[in-house]
Amino acid sequence: MTTPVVDLRSDTLTRPTPGMVEAIATAQVGDDVYGEDPEINALEAEVAELLGHEAGLFCPTGSMTNMLGVRALVPPGQEVICDSMAHIVRAELGGHAVFGQVTTRTWQSDRGLVDADAVLAMAVPDAGAYFVSTAAVAVEDTHNFGGGTVQSVPELRRLRAGAAALGLGVHLDGARLWNAHVATGVPLSEYGSLADTISVCLSKGLGAPVGSVLVSTADRIAEARVWRKRMGGGMRQAGILAAAGRYALRHHVTRLGDDHARAHAIAVALAGVDPSIVDPDLVRTNIVASVWPSASAAQAFIAGCAEAGIRVGSVGSRVVRLVTHLDIDEAGAARAAEVLPAVAKQALAV
Ligand SMILES: *Cc1c(COP(=O)(O)O)cnc(C)c1O
Repeated sequence: MTTPVVDLRSDTLTRPTPGMVEAIATAQVGDDVYGEDPEINALEAEVAELLGHEAGLFCPTGSMTNMLGVRALVPPGQEVICDSMAHIVRAELGGHAVFGQVTTRTWQSDRGLVDADAVLAMAVPDAGAYFVSTAAVAVEDTHNFGGGTVQSVPELRRLRAGAAALGLGVHLDGARLWNAHVATGVPLSEYGSLADTISVCLSKGLGAPVGSVLVSTADRIAEARVWRKRMGGGMRQAGILAAAGRYALRHHVTRLGDDHARAHAIAVALAGVDPSIVDPDLVRTNIVASVWPSASAAQAFIAGCAEAGIRVGSVGSRVVRLVTHLDIDEAGAARAAEVLPAVAKQALAV
């Protein structure tokens, strides 16, 4: 029997569990563009309730919920400010400009961490007829390319208050907000109070095959529903997908702690070879961002991992990302922690 590949490239790679398949198979569905899909209506209400917002909107992707959330807060020709590693500026292919006519300006950060004072200092709410006016701030929690970074909740609270005082909206890209919630123990309702629009993904650590939810006020969600259809995101009997998401919310949130422990163990193993690759103390969720001394060392590590039956992903010339998730069990994580040090040693010798 060949040993199965341990695929740590992303937490999007999960496949539905038997329980989730059962939930999909027994979903009650209707036409969601008519507002008649019971699973979707229930999912939207449940996520809104968890985050203490008025309404929710189910979308095919987190890119779409981010685009709809940001465009709800930013008029055409105005800007959303965010950090330079944010998913909205690095990985959404300019969608905010293409569909929302929104411009962006970025700040540099340490691993994606938000510094409320620095962010507020760069905002220009009413810039007049010469400069671009800032309409919103976007933050990411956990921060993906920052290495699964967990934001400080007091800092986000100060940012929201400061932004409100300036008349700015706050969008929270919470693709992995569930991971932040499990890592900090801060209730989801408290996270909900930190932003005007929040996007959460069901298709990452929660293990659903497809789907994200945007939450906000009933008015903004009604408007976002129009834009979702306009962008081609009006799905019909997509309750089979929402059922998977609802199942994931019931069964796969608290278990994220296992993913976090396994990622930490992998970080400890790598740091044992060379502490400059990763600091295990900074690995608090399911993402290990390892930094290599050169692009060739990073490439050698990726290739060496593949030979050893471990798949890892490049997210920058010297940065290799390892992500734990629902389909990485204790044995898989242990095997990774066991074989990675030798692979890392070889890569550093390149
Ligand atoms: C995955 C992800 C998204 C959404 O990605 P889609 O592939 O469009 O669902 C948004 N933000 C962050 C931080 C992500 O990691």
